[in-house]
Amino acid sequence: MDKDLKNKTLEELEQLLPELGGKKYHAKYIFSFIHTKDAAGIDEITPLSKDLRAKLKDSGYFISRLNLVEKFIDPDGTVKFLFEMADGARVESVLMKHRDRQTVCISTQAGCRMGCAFCATGKLKFNRNLTAGEIVDQVNRVAEEEGTVNNVVFMGMGEPLDNYDNSMRALHILNHHAGKCIAQRRLTISTCGIPSAIERFADEELQVHLSISLHAADDETRAKIMRIGGKYKLHELLASVRKYQARTRRRVMFAYCMIKGVNDSDQDAARVIKLLKGLNANVNLIEYNPHPGCDFQASDRNRIGRFMDLLMKAGIETTVRYKRGEDIKAACGQLGATWLDKKRS
Ligand code: SF4
Repeated sequence: MDKDLKNKTLEELEQLLPELGGKKYHAKYIFSFIHTKDAAGIDEITPLSKDLRAKLKDSGYFISRLNLVEKFIDPDGTVKFLFEMADGARVESVLMKHRDRQTVCISTQAGCRMGCAFCATGKLKFNRNLTAGEIVDQVNRVAEEEGTVNNVVFMGMGEPLDNYDNSMRALHILNHHAGKCIAQRRLTISTCGIPSAIERFADEELQVHLSISLHAADDETRAKIMRIGGKYKLHELLASVRKYQARTRRRVMFAYCMIKGVNDSDQDAARVIKLLKGLNANVNLIEYNPHPGCDFQASDRNRIGRFMDLLMKAGIETTVRYKRGEDIKAACGQLGATWLDKKRS
């Protein structure tokens, strides 16, 4: 049985407390001390009586905490954090600083099973899923180091919908009014495109943003750069997106990593336009971040501009995310690259 209090929803704590001789309202103290005051141990939850705290500890309950191993600061202000969990598994998180807000990109798995060809994380062996407590604690630890976090994107190491239950639990905990109370519209979950999981996500009835990694608008190219593209064809992916939109009426963001000579031609843009026709969608073009051991190169900035123009002319709202945190290997697709470098040397 899971004894980590950081991993529990308020409702679960409300069930647990009476079993330990406490009252239901004690649960709120525990939840808010963990998620708003970053309590490091049960004894820091001072509104609970000494007896109740002792009972929780004697029953094996504890509050987990990620250990910050290393912090890397890029000249552009981006900060990457390397965290270690109790069993030695490691993940990275990235803080992007903007003038008016701070966005943290968090990991949901140590390693990843999806094996996208352009991604450093995909080259690491899959270790394990993170618990919701470990997912949420990345936000706590980053905030402790760098101040308030306003936005959270589940776009770090791992495929969030491959760790579905813990990712959903983490969303609920981050959003809960008795905890961090991060608005749902400030939370984004990303997926490489698992149709059944997208449909399941639609039923959650959340106002959380959904970002889908497209990266190619024909099956052949997509299968070459994304293993998931070989498993599910684009028509299956798009069918799930249509179901999601019919259910939620929410706009979907498609991420498209611009890789030179692979997916960045005018014909590729035409295919994207055709594929997304009729959908309430926007496209985020991502400047590719090369890393050692990967032969792909970034598209020229002129090419990215041209691609963007074509999409915009066709009425698709398009943004470009230029590289950030490249010097510290904190950019999209680079998480875990530092470990791969160490393995190679
Ligand atoms: Fe996994 Fe995302 Fe990397 Fe693909 S891009 S291998 S889903 S972490």
